[in-house]
Amino acid sequence: MAPTPILFATGNAHKVEEVADILGPGWVIEAQDPDVEETGTTFEENALIKARALVAARGVVAMADDSGIEIDALDGRPGIHSARWTEESDWIPRVLRELEGVSGAARSGRYVAAAAVVWPDGQEHVVRGTVEGRIADAPRGTNGFGYDPIFVPDEGDGDTFGEMTAEAKHAMSHRGRAFRALLAHL
Ligand code: IMP
Repeated sequence: MAPTPILFATGNAHKVEEVADILGPGWVIEAQDPDVEETGTTFEENALIKARALVAARGVVAMADDSGIEIDALDGRPGIHSARWTEESDWIPRVLRELEGVSGAARSGRYVAAAAVVWPDGQEHVVRGTVEGRIADAPRGTNGFGYDPIFVPDEGDGDTFGEMTAEAKHAMSHRGRAFRALLAHL
């Protein structure tokens, strides 16, 4: 059977690659930047805002992802602002600076992803995936993207997401969990 085409409201090539891997060969993703302001106060609201914007523009079903890293010692920051709280080259340095003097279990945090699907008739579903972990003392590994070199998932063997294969990351990642749950609604 031919793969089913699906629109994905993102301008982030890393997310496209990851979601294509997670959904598997039954789906072919067409990515389009929804070009909309993320005015929501939760991951779920922002995922819905992005999917709705693309449905309004294109008139067909669309999915979206809103994600980020929540760091407990920073009261959950950067959270929904993970892509915007500082310039990309400073994402990891800023986390490490702000966590200076914080050690061990106090470096806990999680990745969160909300995955949404919206149909032109107004039907909507949004699901959340999370992965608990710790912030490493220094970056390790070059795989993945964003904060992956400093995120050590609790359920792994001590490697950062930056040190893992894509397959190992997706098996436990926030995005893997959210999009596998979303599959039930596609
Ligand atoms: P969004 O495009 O507003 O959803 O921003 C998501 C941001 O959160 C990304 O640009 C990264 O900074 C961070 N992020 C989300 N998921 C991941 C991941 O799997 N690895 C690394 N960083 C991530």
